[in-house]
Amino acid sequence: MKIYKYIFIVFYLVLLSGCATTRDLESDGTVTIQRVDSKSAYIIFASIKQFDKEVVLAGVVKLRRSGRGNVRDHVDMSLTALNGDVVYMQEVSYHRLSTKNGEANFRITLNKVPQYGSILQLSLHDRSTHAEVT
Ligand SMILES: [Zn+2]
Repeated sequence: MKIYKYIFIVFYLVLLSGCATTRDLESDGTVTIQRVDSKSAYIIFASIKQFDKEVVLAGVVKLRRSGRGNVRDHVDMSLTALNGDVVYMQEVSYHRLSTKNGEANFRITLNKVPQYGSILQLSLHDRSTHAEVT
């Protein structure tokens, strides 16, 4: 296991243990995460957790081909409520912690707590399907 990945996980555990009211919004059924990979990369980890009033979305992306290289572009994130309304859209930039094994991670804080039955779609940016956020 690469050291930065270890740090990432430790950071996560510290967040989890430091807070009495942590909810994993995916495992408790509040949010369904849909992963849409691209031709060049795929999502190897994604989670959405609530820490008190803060909702944190985090994930790790890896290039399909092995070896060095940057994960390009960004993740196009959208949150859709049970009734079909898109309540939140954002382009999420990567933190390129290592080019050695072609991995990057992303982490953002949402300004609202998703309602039960929400769908969180994480699409690795694809020029052919990207919709500009207006
Ligand atoms: Zn995009």
